[in-house]
Amino acid sequence: MDENSRSAMERRLRVSFVFVGCAFIAAANAHAQSAAENGLLGSSFGASISYAPASSGPGGIIKASLNKGGSVRRVALRFLGKEYTLGKPEDGLEPFALLGIDLDVKPGLLSLDAVFETDGGEKEEIRKEVPIHPKQFPVKRISVSKAFSEPPPHVRERIQKEAELLREVYGRTTPRWLGEGSFMKPHPASLVPSFGERRVYGGNSPLSIHQGVDLAVPKGDPIRSSNSGRVVWAAETYLSGNTAVIDHGLGLFTVYCHMSRLMVRTGDTVKKGDTLGYCGSTGRSTGPHLHWGARLGESRVDPTLLLGLSLD
Ligand SMILES: [Zn+2]
Repeated sequence: MDENSRSAMERRLRVSFVFVGCAFIAAANAHAQSAAENGLLGSSFGASISYAPASSGPGGIIKASLNKGGSVRRVALRFLGKEYTLGKPEDGLEPFALLGIDLDVKPGLLSLDAVFETDGGEKEEIRKEVPIHPKQFPVKRISVSKAFSEPPPHVRERIQKEAELLREVYGRTTPRWLGEGSFMKPHPASLVPSFGERRVYGGNSPLSIHQGVDLAVPKGDPIRSSNSGRVVWAAETYLSGNTAVIDHGLGLFTVYCHMSRLMVRTGDTVKKGDTLGYCGSTGRSTGPHLHWGARLGESRVDPTLLLGLSLD
């Protein structure tokens, strides 16, 4: 990057840092209001789908639930190009689905389509529009060693390879729900609401998006699985250090980074509250803390929203 474009970027960063404060509060208020609302897709067959919240924003999670009734056997939902099927456990289906809205989704109206199907094979399609509110994210500069702000070519290759492997992990959906009840914080420490923050690690590094939240966990404290599931990644990763990824089913994964030591292996089954490892500062980290993230397929979603999901 040349000097002109660098100073232009710095100006943009300074400007954005000033105005995002108010926008952030406004977005948070809009979210709090929308969270109380429920949306409904009602069929003439008797069953319906309720979904909450009825409006959302980038990084949001919508829970859609089937209210059984009449002769409806299954419901196919379509949202943001993805398909979800809700139905009866005896048909190998779950009565709810979790819909993810990636950080990059633009504000506007998104279509949520439901196709209700009866035992006799009759179908009815209902559509609702889901408003997606704009959200501004602050920009933050973080100093890390050159090994992380300007990694040499062989390290860049490793970073790319690990990103590809993780994409494959997030692409494999378990069709059944593996969680048990509501989600818990992986540690009681205070949580820094920094999801979606734009970060600059050193002068020449590109903007990086913070895909989770940070918890001020003391070094060496146990990090617990926020719900039951299966370990689909337990390995030392260049940027996120010792990392565990838990598959909770239905496309939902939680991610735990920078641990000093991992206590689980890929393929293990974990219960909610099980120790995954111990807090550390491995990978691109400025000190001991837990980075906690969540994915719904390829959508990067805010893990703190999991704590408010009613799953009992
Ligand atoms: Zn983090």
